[in-house]
Amino acid sequence: MPERIPPRSGTAFVLRKGQTLRVIDPTGEQVSDLLAFSQADVAEAISSGRSLDYAGRIFLSVGDVIYSNRSRPMLRIVEDTVGRHDFTLTPCSADTFRIIYGDTEPHHGCQGNFERVLAPYGISGDRIPVAFNIFMNVAVDGETGGIRVDPPRSKAGDYIRFAAEMDLIVALTACSALQSNNGSFKPIDYVIE
Ligand SMILES: [Zn+2]
Repeated sequence: MPERIPPRSGTAFVLRKGQTLRVIDPTGEQVSDLLAFSQADVAEAISSGRSLDYAGRIFLSVGDVIYSNRSRPMLRIVEDTVGRHDFTLTPCSADTFRIIYGDTEPHHGCQGNFERVLAPYGISGDRIPVAFNIFMNVAVDGETGGIRVDPPRSKAGDYIRFAAEMDLIVALTACSALQSNNGSFKPIDYVIE
């Protein structure tokens, strides 16, 4: 049975080398931000810049590797029923909601959820990098570089599966940003296999 992450919340757990992690969108059109840190040294974390550089693309899918800031493989994408994820934007945060949405009493967002679930592992907010934003659909204008957040392409039951290439501390959220999730907040399921 999958574990369930309630809407606008997050969790963290250890994923051992050789295990796989399946992240499922149970109801459709819901983003899940993913972070991973080396369990041996949490200064080593997933790196958007390294991963996109080595892939030569900004949209990653089956066969692509998520590298660390030390250029070591952390996760490999082994299955993907959606094929569109984002690896350019930081986790949504209270500041995101103030700056983009104009909220006066903003939610703490994925950033706040990450800080809460990663504190027991000794990882502070300043250590949180660009997340791998599962199912997030960011359209890019190839000429101007303009970006637009569109509804996720994921339907109920769609999933992505990662193989761990080292022992990891993984954090996952059910994203809290209205625009990223087509206007409503839904749960995310995951399975460690
Ligand atoms: Zn978010």
